[in-house]
Parts: sequence; structure tokens; C-alpha cells
Amino acid sequence: MDFAFDARTEELRAKLLAFMDEYVYPAEPVAHEQRAALSSPWRTPPVVEELKAEARRQGLWNLFLPDSGYGAGLTNLQYAPLAEITGRSPQLAPTALNCAAPDTGNMEVLAQFGDEAQRKQWLEPLLAGEIRSAFAMTEPEVASSDATNITTRIERDGDDYVVTGRKWYISGAMNPDCRIFIVMGKTDPDGADIRRQQSMVLVPRDTPGVEVRRAMQVYGYEDHWHGGHAEVVFDHARVPVSNLIGEEGGGFAIAQARLGPGRIHHCMRLIGMAERAIELMCRRAVSRTAFGKALAQQGVVHTWIADARVAVEQLRLLVLKTAWMMDTVGNKGAHTEIQAIKIATPRTVVDIIDKAVQLHGAGGVSQDFPLAELWAGARTLRLADGPDEVHQRSLARREIKRYL
Ligand SMILES: Cc1cc2nc3c(=O)[nH]c(=O)nc-3n(C[C@H](O)[C@H](O)[C@H](O)COP(=O)(O)OP(=O)(O)OC[C@H]3O[C@@H](n4cnc5c(N)ncnc54)[C@H](O)[C@@H]3O)c2cc1C
Repeated sequence: MDFAFDARTEELRAKLLAFMDEYVYPAEPVAHEQRAALSSPWRTPPVVEELKAEARRQGLWNLFLPDSGYGAGLTNLQYAPLAEITGRSPQLAPTALNCAAPDTGNMEVLAQFGDEAQRKQWLEPLLAGEIRSAFAMTEPEVASSDATNITTRIERDGDDYVVTGRKWYISGAMNPDCRIFIVMGKTDPDGADIRRQQSMVLVPRDTPGVEVRRAMQVYGYEDHWHGGHAEVVFDHARVPVSNLIGEEGGGFAIAQARLGPGRIHHCMRLIGMAERAIELMCRRAVSRTAFGKALAQQGVVHTWIADARVAVEQLRLLVLKTAWMMDTVGNKGAHTEIQAIKIATPRTVVDIIDKAVQLHGAGGVSQDFPLAELWAGARTLRLADGPDEVHQRSLARREIKRYL
């Protein structure tokens, strides 16, 4: 077993680490200042466009896409350590590299299931970072962790589909650059096979009947960096039948395919978030004194830091193993591992960030450190892309099946 990264990964890692130091970290305070001065807080601060241009110039662009016809052509194992580095600045770095969710998953869907016209119209500008996109599945009225529950209708009417339904927590949709929604709904609500009732259609934002109604919050944060998480209403929004992705009834399968890589990307970035929290924890611990001793000399702080380091090393090995399995036996073959990292990573990283918050005292929950926002972001990943319990159910059922 070889634990070293290959030459291409090492080269990209070195480049990306330098890019983070030279451009991304210094841009963090600038982006905050610029956002406060924007006409709408949902717009992208100009410094982010500068970061994108520089990343593209340096070849740090579309690293997530394994298809070299569209992206960098990296394997999951090669991309994993790079995504981790971007997680250290989750508000800026993934967007700077055009590797931010939900665009990444949407680009994968279009690359894999879109037809030529759809790829030309939507995938090309997404790959170029000219527009953003959203993925609209979850609905406020039903338990959407079970995708067979969704009620949005996609009804055929002549040469059109008519989309009617209400979605929420649609990430990215508040950003006016988000030009296209991939909407999951039912084309055959009474079909016998509950996993063939759903389809996916492309709905441009400017379609009459599409209303981006309000921004949903995350623990009180608007999450401007991710383009917010919107409630979106589709009221008889009419699109041509050519906007169907794949085939009628194929929506459920596409959703499953979309979520595999998305989950590992989240976990990779979460490890970077944990690394940032550990760094902040150590810096704070050596710089503050309480009751005559540096915080770094307190036994309890040693325990927090040691436990955090052990946990991150364990998580990273599991995530890298999962990436390697996805590359070698495919996403289906790596099913158990994908579930395992999605269960283990967010909850462990939440705990690590929470310790860092504690060590920072009031500063930890303040806007002067990134910890509170990191915590909220990590916590939501125990829900988004499937709640912990749904992954536990799925993993356990497979495990038990072997003994039936
Ligand atoms: C910040 C954020 C961003 C998001 N972005 C998007 C997006 O871009 N697009 C999109 O479509 N959705 C998005 N979501 C929605 C997310 O995918 C859903 O919240 C998630 O799938 C859960 O669905 P739900 O909220 O309807 O919860 P429900 O399905 O109502 O589940 C609620 C709870 O029930 C429990 N539960 C459910 N099933 C089981 C089970 N089998 N066993 C035991 N317990 C169970 C779990 O604890 C679960 O958390 C986002 C959510 C958040 C918080």
C-alpha cells in the first residue's frame, strides 16, 4: 500500500497551496468589505471574479471533473487532497476554482446525461464560470430525504412540460448569476414503480412562472457565499420537452448518480475546514493566557487538539480510501464507503469546530473569526445530501443483507 500522492497531485497541491496563500486568504477580508458595499448582497464580490481569472490562468480550474473532455481529468483520489485544501476557505476557494456545489453536481449531470444541445447551452457557460446553477429537489411539504415523496408535477402538454411545485433550500438560487435550475418532479405520479415516477427538467430562471421567493437561513446566516438557499415556486412554468434530462422516469436514478461524487466532495472540503479549525485553535491556545498559564498548557486543551488530530487523520484515510474505490470499482461498488464518510465526516468535524469555538470564548461565536460560520456550514452537512440517519439506514441494511 502506497500512501504517497502521485506526481500530478503533488504538483497541483503545491500550486494550490501557493494560490491559497497568495490570493485566497488575503481576499477573505476584501470579499467581506466588498459584499457590504454591493447593490445586492447576493451578487458575487468583484474579488471573486479576480480569483477565478487567476485560478483559470494557473490551470486550477474545473479540477472536480474526471472527464478530461470537460475538466481537469483527475481521478477522485487525485482531486481529494485538492478539494481538502479548498475547504480551508469554503466561502471563496471552491468558487474561485469553479469547483463549488451545487454547480459541480449539475455540471456532472449535464456532462453525463445531457444531450448535445443542453451541454452547449448550459454546460459550456458553467464550465467557463460565466453562470451559476441550482438543483431543486427538496420540498417544504414532504419528507424529502425520501425522494419518492416529492410532489412537484412535470406534466406533458403538447411539445412542452409544465412544472408546478414549491421547493426550498435550493442552494445558489439567490445569486442572480444562477441562470438555470435542474428541477426534479413527477412525470408519472401514479406509476407502479415508485422510483420511475420522477424526471428532471432544465428550467431557466427567467421562465414565466418561476419565482425565487425568499432566502432560507442557516442558523440565522444568509449564506451569501453560496448564493443563499432559496424557496422557489414553480407555478405552471412551461419549458420545451427538449429540456428533459435523460429519459422520462429517469430522474431518481440521475439524482442517485449525482449525489455520489457530491458527497465525497463535501467530505473532502470538511476535512479542510477541520484543519483550519485546528490551526486556529493552536494559534489561539499559544496566544492567550488564563489563570497564569497559556491556554496551550491546559490539559483539556491538549485533549481537544490531540483528539481533533486523531479524528482528522482517521477521516482523511477513510475519504481517500473511498476516493480510490470510486476510481477502481465505481460509485456503486463504493456504496458502503460513501455512506460511511457521509455519516462520519460532518459530525466529527462539527465536534472539532465546536472545540475551536469553545477555545476562542466569545470570539468563537463572533463574526471576527470564521469558526461560527464554519460550524453552521458543517452542521448543515448532517442534513444536506441526505441526513445521517438515512445513510445509516442504507449502510446497515446492506450490512445485514449479507446474513439473510
Ligand atoms: C444548507 C442546506 C442546503 C441544501 N441545499 C439543497 C439544494 O441545493 N437542493 C435541494 O434539493 N435540497 C437542498 N437541501 C435540502 C436537503 O437535501 C434536505 O434537507 C434533506 O434531504 C432532508 O430532507 P428534509 O429536510 O425534507 O427532512 P426530512 O426528510 O423531513 O427528514 C427529517 C429528519 O427525519 C429523520 N429521518 C428521515 N428518514 C429517516 C430514516 N429512514 N430513519 C431515521 N430517521 C430518519 C432524519 O433525522 C431527518 O433529518 C439543503 C439543505 C440545507 C440545510
